[in-house]
Amino acid sequence: MKSIERFKIPPGSKVRLKDFDPSFKGGHKSHEAAAKEIDHYQQKLRALQDLLYGERRHSLLICLQAMDTGGKDGVINHVLGAMNPQGCRVAPFKEPSAEELAHDFLWRAHKAAPARGEVVIFNRSHYEDVLVVRVHNLVPKSVWSRRYDQINAFEQELVANSTQVLKFFLHISAGEQLKRFKQRLDDPAKHWKISESDYKERAYWDKYVEAYEDALSRCSTAHAPWFVIPANHKWFRNLAVARIVVEHLEALKMKYPAPTVDIEHIRREYHAAKKK
Ligand code: AMP
Ligand code: MG
Repeated sequence: MKSIERFKIPPGSKVRLKDFDPSFKGGHKSHEAAAKEIDHYQQKLRALQDLLYGERRHSLLICLQAMDTGGKDGVINHVLGAMNPQGCRVAPFKEPSAEELAHDFLWRAHKAAPARGEVVIFNRSHYEDVLVVRVHNLVPKSVWSRRYDQINAFEQELVANSTQVLKFFLHISAGEQLKRFKQRLDDPAKHWKISESDYKERAYWDKYVEAYEDALSRCSTAHAPWFVIPANHKWFRNLAVARIVVEHLEALKMKYPAPTVDIEHIRREYHAAKKK
């Protein structure tokens, strides 16, 4: 894979998802051929998260969005699997509770946002409020159409307060989704993942595409970019996300904090104790 820039949506562009190939493999022939690179980025992820946790100046917010079966759970496993659980958290965005509905739509997102030193993955996110909500007319257009600007302002505020915000749309084809539904049907260990709405939502595929295209076009900003990740191949999806996270964390130029104690003094005491 040459550069991660190809997956980034330039601010102000008009996204058409049909222009993006969900089966793209970035020059790798197979999972096996990419295994070394995948391992490399996982190790880097681990080291950078340790640094983020130790330095406690920045935080990282990863937003994951996808059609059903798009691979959000897989990415969470892959990215967080490389990290120390201390300092990482997943925040799922389900149908809002009565309490959440009684607040503005960004309330629950803000509450779940990472503290300094922390990595948080939003499994779905505040974007559901311009996706499922728009597709199913859960609020009037006059309400959801103003949310894009509200989302941009919210994310800008997070970024201004030292949060790195990275947003990933895991892009699968309708055919791949059908294949994955079948795999779930054939595997009793995956039956729990199947919900009534998964199949019903498939009927709204084109409406979701439209809603995603608007969210990607209007909310990919210089401060909080959207990435469209080819996700028909799970290993490529994981590699692309890991690499994008690594490169953005590296750009933060983090450093471990200076010691708060006199290390030399403690070292002398240690050697003295050892001699006894
Ligand atoms: P899952 O992620 O498969 O566990 O499903 C969570 C469900 O909650 C999905 O069908 C989402 O579309 C739905 N959901 C998430 N956020 C909202 C929201 N703000 N309004 C309505 N439904 C939502
Ligand atoms: Mg689901």
